[in-house]
Amino acid sequence: MSDEGQNHEGRPDLIPASMLAAFAYCPRLCYLQWVQGEFQDSAETVDGRFQHRWLDAEEDAVPEDFQPFHARSVSLTAPQAGVCCRIDLLEGDGSHVTPVEYKRGEAPKTPLGLYEPYQVQLCAQGLALRENGFQCDEGMVYFIRSKDRVKVLFDPEMVGRTKKLIAEVHSMAERGEVPPPLRGSSRCDRCSLAGICMPDEITALREMEAEKESKMASDVAEETKHEGKPGGVRKDESQEKVRRLLPDRDDTVPLFVVGQGNIVRKRGERVEVWTKEGKVSEARLMEVSKVCLYGGVEITTPAMMELMQRNVPVLHFSHGGWYYGICQGMSHKNVELRIRQFDWARDPERSLALARSMVAGKISNCRTLLRRNDPEAPQEVLDLLERLVREAEDASRMPSLLGIEGAAAEAYFSRFASLLKCSQGFSFQDRNKRPPRDPVNAVLSYLYGILTKELFVTVLAVGFEPYLGFYHQPKYGRPSLALDMMEEFRPLIADSTAINLFNNRELAPDDFIKTGIGISLLPEAKKKVVAGYERRMQTQIAHPIFGYTVSYRRILEVQSRLLARVLQGELKSYPAFVTR
Ligand code: SF4
Repeated sequence: MSDEGQNHEGRPDLIPASMLAAFAYCPRLCYLQWVQGEFQDSAETVDGRFQHRWLDAEEDAVPEDFQPFHARSVSLTAPQAGVCCRIDLLEGDGSHVTPVEYKRGEAPKTPLGLYEPYQVQLCAQGLALRENGFQCDEGMVYFIRSKDRVKVLFDPEMVGRTKKLIAEVHSMAERGEVPPPLRGSSRCDRCSLAGICMPDEITALREMEAEKESKMASDVAEETKHEGKPGGVRKDESQEKVRRLLPDRDDTVPLFVVGQGNIVRKRGERVEVWTKEGKVSEARLMEVSKVCLYGGVEITTPAMMELMQRNVPVLHFSHGGWYYGICQGMSHKNVELRIRQFDWARDPERSLALARSMVAGKISNCRTLLRRNDPEAPQEVLDLLERLVREAEDASRMPSLLGIEGAAAEAYFSRFASLLKCSQGFSFQDRNKRPPRDPVNAVLSYLYGILTKELFVTVLAVGFEPYLGFYHQPKYGRPSLALDMMEEFRPLIADSTAINLFNNRELAPDDFIKTGIGISLLPEAKKKVVAGYERRMQTQIAHPIFGYTVSYRRILEVQSRLLARVLQGELKSYPAFVTR
């Protein structure tokens, strides 16, 4: 142990007693929280903090003369036992002390009146107290709602069980492997990390991978390959098994502020937008996922600090949508994921494997969009795209994959004009950019830009380095990973939004301005495009692999987390999001 009490990987040597409780509940939960630093608030964790507020308000010193006392929030370390703890309340009488652990809710109706995680957490506190010179034979759990006090005896059996669990946590952290998820456990229903852990999804995908491998071994691979989706995943095999343990969509939405001189302020639990004339809009802080400021919009320091504390990013753009940068609170602590990301990005074979899935997914989704919306699409175009999906899955080199993607884009955009059904004179010849030369390309470019920023924030929140990708090579200022993740979503989100905006006549010719070198959207047109994009992101669709219904915005997060699981060795291949 170093002086700082941390091992050479920066992880504390001493296991917090609360993490021991998490381990007793589920080893994977402990790993995600303690080793990977994942945290997700739930109604229970927020309520728990509220109920604990008077205990957490300040720390009391333990009197050295061992007189009767009550001390709140007592922090102790016990290097020999290998634990540290923060005791909610320590009741003392002479040298004899009793730790009291406060829990929200009611005492469980079990024979012992307690679950094991609470028992070992208290016993670890007892071990820490003993190592610090106190006599401690029992602890108490106090249930705030039912006002029950339940005793835990630190007898040899309980001490032995606690020490065994401490040793198991150390060995789990040493191995550096995230434990597998629980299978079909009701514990997952109550777990605040279910949306990050994705227990049923990971189990289903692992079973599919194992099944695929065994099929290949028995020489049925050819059939699997033709039916299969990129990443070798099929929907029907898992649809019955996967519970949706994550919310179907974000209850939070982005706040876009456009307009020179506007000011974003915080007032109580709300964020407000002001002009010189007064307040023009407001939103509840708890409902804001990110704040996008366009042009000369100001934000006050209290508003910025509050958003940082809530991990709500603030993105700054020029009036024309050029991305300047992002302000956010402390970045994600999952350094383990970033190390894996750098390892994978350095490895051409593994990078190619990921890129194959992403590009094949994109081509497949382009084909589906044509098949659904272009009844006159020539069969040879659809056949060509289908063949290119298979070629992308089998590409042996990155340059070949780039060539396949280029050929697919040419075939897809050759039919894009036929997807536009409006009669306002908009037309599409080919995909052009920097600058776009017609309104349709201007809208596509604008939407790709918005989607890139959305994925930038999403992969950052999951714990990735957004600038390091696997398909898009590193280039100064290029958010390569966000661009990688965007491939499969370009047709589903950006292209679909553009088609809807034109076909629903939400955009008119006077929404665009011709500049010397190209075509730009006027400010009001940008608002319409952003509104159309938001509608698309809120749209709920059935997940083609897991069967449950979620919003596109939530799917971006699910896919990013699946990529993380591939890098961390839980999944063998990245299952791109492919619609039917
Ligand atoms: S969701 Fe289930 S498997 Fe995952 S960490 Fe929570 S309890 Fe463990």
